[in-house]
Amino acid sequence: MVARAMDVGVVGCGTAGAAAALLLARAGHKVTVYERIDQPKAVGAGIMLQPTGQAVLAALGLLDEVLNRAEPLELLRCETLRRRQLFELRYSALPGGHRGYGLHRGALFERLFAAVRSSSATLKTGVEVEDLAATSDNAGLWFVQSDGTRLGPHELCVVADGSRSQLRDDTVIRKSVRPYPWGAMWCVLDDPEGRFTRGLHQVLDGTRRMVGALPTGLGPGDGTGPRKVSLFYSVRYDRVDAWKARGLDRCKQELREFIPALDAVLDQVVDVQQFVFTRYQDVAMYPWNTDRVVYLGDAAHAMSPQLGQGANLALMDAMVLAQALAKQPELASGLALYSRTRRSNLGFYELATRWLTPWFQSDYAALGWLRDLGFPLSMRVPGMERLMVKVMTGLAQGTGLGRPLSLPAP
Ligand SMILES: Cc1cc2nc3c(=O)[nH]c(=O)nc-3n(C[C@H](O)[C@H](O)[C@H](O)COP(=O)(O)OP(=O)(O)OC[C@H]3O[C@@H](n4cnc5c(N)ncnc54)[C@H](O)[C@@H]3O)c2cc1C
Repeated sequence: MVARAMDVGVVGCGTAGAAAALLLARAGHKVTVYERIDQPKAVGAGIMLQPTGQAVLAALGLLDEVLNRAEPLELLRCETLRRRQLFELRYSALPGGHRGYGLHRGALFERLFAAVRSSSATLKTGVEVEDLAATSDNAGLWFVQSDGTRLGPHELCVVADGSRSQLRDDTVIRKSVRPYPWGAMWCVLDDPEGRFTRGLHQVLDGTRRMVGALPTGLGPGDGTGPRKVSLFYSVRYDRVDAWKARGLDRCKQELREFIPALDAVLDQVVDVQQFVFTRYQDVAMYPWNTDRVVYLGDAAHAMSPQLGQGANLALMDAMVLAQALAKQPELASGLALYSRTRRSNLGFYELATRWLTPWFQSDYAALGWLRDLGFPLSMRVPGMERLMVKVMTGLAQGTGLGRPLSLPAP
């Protein structure tokens, strides 16, 4: 299935980098992965694994292992603090028997990382790649470290170094990188009694306050731990300290007010520093390639997690890249095919996320009123729930109204 075996260097062993390394190594390429963390660990909080991400993991033969650690999700429910339902999106509204899964990012990482270790790819940890430099004959790229050490050269560079990508800085591709003023405080808690099952539950108060609870499965490790729930609180980056400074009791009180069931798990929070703040970024660029370099995952298209697609888009990127390279005899045409193929799906989620985020996280109070009025009404329009579920599953493309994305065959 390989058009021509190449020497490939991958920067970053997160979701996109690990999946790309596995798929390209299996396709017969000589792959070296550089990861800056010396001993990467299974860290993070809850993510949503959608049918798109599931299809790629199935193709990698890792789906069952990952789902053993995950919690099946039937729906996404969103309501106001006054208990007015804005929408309830059920996966069953879309034909195809799709469902989502709540998963600890670390559980996904662990499986992908172990698979890379046991693959034919060479993994070099504790190596931070800072720059790329063309070889004198232009036949490859050196991967340059901060002390000037050159690694490689490689014919193809897969940049998968996350939303704060250093290698994106110098690219000739036109791009925009904007940090959102907003982010979220996250905390993963044990849920031994299984109070948080079936779906993601979000409660909103205007556009400035939102609390969510995502069932997160068993988390990383050996499978003996209790089930987890990830709790998130939406906050502007410059209000994080003020929120924490109110003290633990008031913070917990506010969270209980939004989702009373959290009372059963909040006694595990003994220090307000257990809430970890993550600020979101919006990255736009096109195409996602030059003649020898391709950008995947958050490095290429970081977005706010409003539509819960980050890891899924990263997995799809890896799959489409491997398929595009297998179809084209030349590297440059394979990379160009990659960008063209991904444009419809990625373009939809970039635009939809950019448009939707201020209705859920911003200082525009009027958007909150309009949202609370408009969403329940729009859900009465025939076909609206189905459309929104298509968006939730990761299968939307183009304008969102046409046929859903075809999933890769296992
Ligand atoms: C530690 C961590 C925790 C996260 N937790 C969550 C979470 O709780 N919820 C959520 O929705 N998303 C989380 N994310 C983001 C999520 O993993 C991504 O949005 C998504 O999976 C896309 O993955 P990615 O491979 O593009 O980027 P990432 O998963 O961010 O992976 C990028 C990788 O590149 C490595 N790297 C960065 N710079 C360099 C360099 N110069 N040289 C070599 N290696 C480099 C990083 O160490 C990392 O392993 C987390 C990411 C990380 C790194």
